Amino acid sequence: MENFSDVIVIGGGPSGSFSALNLSKKGFNVKVFEEHSEIGVPCHCAGHISINGLKGIGLYPLPENIIENTFVGAKVHSPSGAVWTVRLSKPITCTVNRTLFDKHIAEIAQEAGAQYNLGTRVESLVFSKGFVEGVVINQHGKTSIFFGKIVLDAEGISARLLKQALLSPPKSDKIVRGVQIEVENVKDVEKDVVEVILGRNYAPGFYAWLIPKSDMEAKVGLAANTGNPRTLLQKLMCKHPAISAKLQTAKIIRESYHPITLGGPIPKAYTNGFLVVGDAASQVKPTTGGGIILGLNCAKIAADVAAEAIYQNNFSADFLCSYQRSFMKMFGFDLKIMLKVRDMLDKLRDKKLDSIISVCKKLQLNDVLKDLKEVDFQGRTLLKLAQNSKTLMALTFFFLNYLLEKP
Ligand SMILES: Cc1cc2nc3c(=O)[nH]c(=O)nc-3n(C[C@H](O)[C@H](O)[C@H](O)COP(=O)(O)OP(=O)(O)OC[C@H]3O[C@@H](n4cnc5c(N)ncnc54)[C@H](O)[C@@H]3O)c2cc1C
Repeated sequence: MENFSDVIVIGGGPSGSFSALNLSKKGFNVKVFEEHSEIGVPCHCAGHISINGLKGIGLYPLPENIIENTFVGAKVHSPSGAVWTVRLSKPITCTVNRTLFDKHIAEIAQEAGAQYNLGTRVESLVFSKGFVEGVVINQHGKTSIFFGKIVLDAEGISARLLKQALLSPPKSDKIVRGVQIEVENVKDVEKDVVEVILGRNYAPGFYAWLIPKSDMEAKVGLAANTGNPRTLLQKLMCKHPAISAKLQTAKIIRESYHPITLGGPIPKAYTNGFLVVGDAASQVKPTTGGGIILGLNCAKIAADVAAEAIYQNNFSADFLCSYQRSFMKMFGFDLKIMLKVRDMLDKLRDKKLDSIISVCKKLQLNDVLKDLKEVDFQGRTLLKLAQNSKTLMALTFFFLNYLLEKP
C-alpha cells in the first residue's frame, strides 16, 4: 500500500464514505480506513430518515433492497397511554437497512476511485509543525504511518482521535445511551406508521420507538440519560400497555447498544490539516437523535472545503474554518431551535407531556400537519407551523407548560 494520498478518511460509516465519494468524484486520491472487517457491521441504528433529505444529497432513489419501509405518519404514546396519531398525505420518511445503506455509499465511493482499507484501525494522528499530516494505522497487528494532505475524521461518537487534535468532543452530559432490537412476529402494527413512546418510566431524557419493517417485523428501541437501557427496554416490552401487547409473541433477532449525542455540534470541527464530520462532530438532531442526513450534508460540505484547500495548497485552520461556517449557515438556526426544544422536553414532567398531547388531540391538528414535508430543518418547520392558528395554539401551550415547570 502506498503510504501517501491526497485525503485520508477515518471511518467507513455514512459520513466518512460520503466525504470519500465526493472527493473521489473530484479526482482526488482518497484512502478510507475502517477498523471493522465489513462496512456497516455491526449495525446499531434504526435508519429512519427523511426521503427529502436523501433527495437533497442526491442519494434518492436508493436501490430497492435498502429501503425496508416507508411511513405516512406517527403514533405518539403519551406517558399515561393516550395515543395521538398524525397521518400525512404521502410518505415523507423511510427506514433503511443500515448495513446495506452504509455498504451502498462505500460501493459508489469505491466506484468513484476511493480506496478502502478494512480491518484497519487508526491508532493516532501524526503531527508536524502544528498540522495533522497523517495517521498511524494498525492492520492485523502491524502498525505503519500513512500521510495525507488533509485528514477527515469520521470516527463516530467515540471521538477519540479528535481529542488528540485538541478539539472538544461531543458534550458528555448530553449523550444518551441507546438500545435497539429487531424483532419478528410483531402483532397489530400499522405498517406505514412509526410509533413514538414518551415518558420517564420507559425512556428518561429521550423516547422509545417502534419502527415497522413489515406487518410482522419491527425495530424497537429507546435511549435514556439515566438507568440501564436494557432494563428499560425489557420494561417497555413487558409492561407498556400498547407496546407489550404488540410484542407478546415477538422473537428477538438482533440486539445492539450505542450512544447518541444530543448536545449540538462541537464548537470547532477543524484544525490545521484536519476536519471532523458526522457523530464525531456531534452533527445530530438534538430532538430526535437523527444523525444520518445531517452527517451526510456536512460530509459533502467538508469534501468541498477539503478540495478547495488542496487546490489552494492551504491547510491552515484559518482556511478550513469555512467548513464550520458553511454547515452552521445551513443548519445553525434549526439546530439552535432543536437544542431549545430538547431542553424543554427534558424539563417537562410526564403530567405536562400528557396535557400537551391531549391538547394536540383536541385541536385536531391533522388537517394542518398532513402536508408536512420537512423534518430535518425543524426550526424552519416550526416557524411555518406557527403561522397556522391551531398549531400556534399547540406550540404556545407547550411553551407555557415549559415556563410553568419548576426547575
Ligand atoms: C440506537 C440508535 C438509533 C439511531 N437511529 C437513527 C435513525 O433512525 N436515524 C438517524 O438519522 N440516525 C439514527 N441514529 C444516529 C446514527 O446512527 C448516527 O448519527 C450515524 O451513524 C453517524 O454516522 P457517522 O458516519 O458519523 O458515524 P458511524 O456510523 O458511527 O461510523 C463511524 C465509523 O468509524 C469507524 N471507526 C471508529 N474509530 C475508528 C478508528 N480509530 N479507525 C478506523 N475506523 C474507525 C467505526 O467502525 C464506524 O464504522 C441512531 C443511533 C443509535 C445509537
